[in-house]
Amino acid sequence: MITSCVSVANVLGGMAASEPTDVRTHRSPRESWCSSMNRPTFRRTASGVVAATLSAALLAACGGQDEDAADGAKATAPAFTVTHIGGPTTILEIGGLRLLLDPTFDAPRKYKSGLEKLRPPALGVDGIGRIDAVLLSHDQHDDNLDEAGRALLKDVPVVLSTPGARKRLGDHVTGMKAWDAQELKSASGAVEVTAVPALHGPDGVDRGADGEVTGFVLSGKGVPTTYISGDNASVKVAEEVGDRIRKEIGPIDTAVLFAGAARTPAILANAPLTLTSRNAALVAKALDPRKVVPVHTDSWNIYSEDLASLVKAFKAEGVDAKLVDLAPDGAPKSLS
Ligand SMILES: [Zn+2]
Repeated sequence: MITSCVSVANVLGGMAASEPTDVRTHRSPRESWCSSMNRPTFRRTASGVVAATLSAALLAACGGQDEDAADGAKATAPAFTVTHIGGPTTILEIGGLRLLLDPTFDAPRKYKSGLEKLRPPALGVDGIGRIDAVLLSHDQHDDNLDEAGRALLKDVPVVLSTPGARKRLGDHVTGMKAWDAQELKSASGAVEVTAVPALHGPDGVDRGADGEVTGFVLSGKGVPTTYISGDNASVKVAEEVGDRIRKEIGPIDTAVLFAGAARTPAILANAPLTLTSRNAALVAKALDPRKVVPVHTDSWNIYSEDLASLVKAFKAEGVDAKLVDLAPDGAPKSLS
């Protein structure tokens, strides 16, 4: 079994992790915080995110229940959809939660790092609706977290990322090591988020702190097991994750693969830092998910292979039927 499963109190992310809790004599931060809350109300924040003062996820964690959502959950299974906003930035609606991957919402511009954003996001921050948690593969590269993305983190109840991201971004972020797990409660149940290894460069290369990145696996009762690669370039690493997930959780239903073969002359002489199109196809073949969601192939100058080349590679490997049509158009698409 996967170890290091953290209690539901950690749905509060950095708050729970940063404040000492002595349940014998004191109320935990969760109890104190929950007891001050009534029904969820939604507010528009300075950055434009519609944030719940108590989201469905947190309400359930606090032992309450969103009555409307609970009624709906009885009638139908929670939606399973993906909305591609551009680059790696994607909303996954799964297990009753709305999870945002690697927020980037800047207008086209150049960065000091040499990266350049080439097109605007398909949705602005004010168009994404409620977000229950951000799953941030890493914070140190503009194409995974840009300035507008960084600004919205403070308005999201839960941010899961790497230990380095927590150090740089603050206690609001939960720093997860490989195979740490967090349970996020929703009105319809719970989604377990497990951090999984990712290698931001070729096999055998250690990029140190600049290469620190995490993937994620989502699972749970009634939750389609979903692998999110993060900025991983290694077929081997993805295969090892796939083997362990299959053994400990079960078959992988959906894989969100960060492809695009990101390259820059400044790092490892233009070696691919994320999956090439062919390697993405090999990962799809090895992990054999029912569906593959390709992201991280558009909108930034460092991606050397586009969606068209990915489709070609998937056809060559005979796995193109798994591909979800995922132009970055901001429209929710069903994965059911
Ligand atoms: Zn990166």
